[in-house]
This record gives sequence, C-alpha cells and structure tokens, in this order.
Amino acid sequence: MVEPAPVLAETLSQIKALAASERPLVICDVDEVVLHFIAHLEEHLEAQGLRFLSHAYKLTGNIAGRDGAPVPANAVKDLLQDFFDTWTHRQQPVDGAAQALETLSRSADIVFLTNLPGAWNREKRVRTLAGHGMRYPVITNTGAKGGAVAALAAGRRGPVAFIDDSPQNIRSVQTALADCVLIHFVADRRFFATSDTIAGVHLKTHDWSAVEAYISTCLSD
Ligand SMILES: [Mg+2]
Repeated sequence: MVEPAPVLAETLSQIKALAASERPLVICDVDEVVLHFIAHLEEHLEAQGLRFLSHAYKLTGNIAGRDGAPVPANAVKDLLQDFFDTWTHRQQPVDGAAQALETLSRSADIVFLTNLPGAWNREKRVRTLAGHGMRYPVITNTGAKGGAVAALAAGRRGPVAFIDDSPQNIRSVQTALADCVLIHFVADRRFFATSDTIAGVHLKTHDWSAVEAYISTCLSD
C-alpha cells in the first residue's frame, strides 16, 4: 500500500456531491464504531461451524474452519461479503454513538466514511443508521482512507476529526492529513484489549462519551 492512499474516483464523486461547508468535520467509520461488527460476525461464523482463533485484530489468518485450520484469504473475502449481505440491515448500534454524534453535530458536520463490500448494501446501511438515529451522509470507500479523508477535509476552516477501528486506516489518515484529530475506537472489549496502540493517536477508547468529550474540547479550543 502506497501512502498517502489516493482517493478513488467512486469515492471522490460522492464527496463532491456533499454540500460545500467550512464547518469543523467529524469523519466517522461505521463497522465496530457506530454499529457492532465483530460480535455479529462471530455469530455468523459460529452458525457455520467457524470461529475466531484469537482476539488479535485481524481477520485473515484468524478465522478457523471446522477442521481448525485457518480459512484462506480468498475464502475470508467471500465470508465477509456473505456476512454483509445477510447482516447489513440488522447490525445493532454501539451504545452512546447516536447521542454523541447528535451533540457533536451542533458544532461540526458529521460524515460516515465506510468500507462496505457490495454497492448493493449501501441503501440498507443508510436505512440501518437512520433507524438508530444516525442520519448523516454516508460515503462508501474501498481500501485505506487517507485520500478520502483529505478530500473531505479540503476547504474546511475548523478542526477535522477521524474515528476508526482499523490501524491501517488511522495510519493512512495520519500520512494524508497531518493535523487531523485521530481517534482509535474499537467497540468490542476483547478486541479493544489486544488492539495496537498507534503512535500519534489522540484518543484510544471503546467509550462514546470519551469521544464526545475529547472532540468537544478540540472544537472549543
Ligand atoms: Mg470499521
């Protein structure tokens, strides 16, 4: 992966369709940040006789088949697509996310930036988020998010904050947008406990009230 990752054309066209704004911006991931992902994936895997091998923060090499051996990378990709096709409309919200974003939305624009496999799942995701009180623009992306975040931040005068569970995405944004407020959020406590601590991250948490407090301070500085 070459960093900073360039923004993909499909993502850039969605960003350009947003209303122009100079307000501060909170760019928020969806899976494992505002909607549960790992707990649902675990249930999905178990229904097929599969399981996580550890709480290490990775999927490839960390899912075992019925024989106990790791499922190969291409099969993990298929499993994930199947997961999103069957779960996108019923993923449950992470406690406190909707309320924190509502509070932050009084002083910043909120945008969801999500790597969602299958363009056909986009509307289901938008409806699921809205159904849990999170009605903000949804931008779909593939791969590292640095380029997309830089494009979203262009023209903003106030602070830009980025919230994601993926170390790859956080590092990508760190490279692409030097002054971005970086928040590493992992809802699942078991995976939070084993997740990398990334140098330069401003806040690492599993608690939305901590996110709200931290970003509110940045916005009022
Ligand atoms: Mg995520």
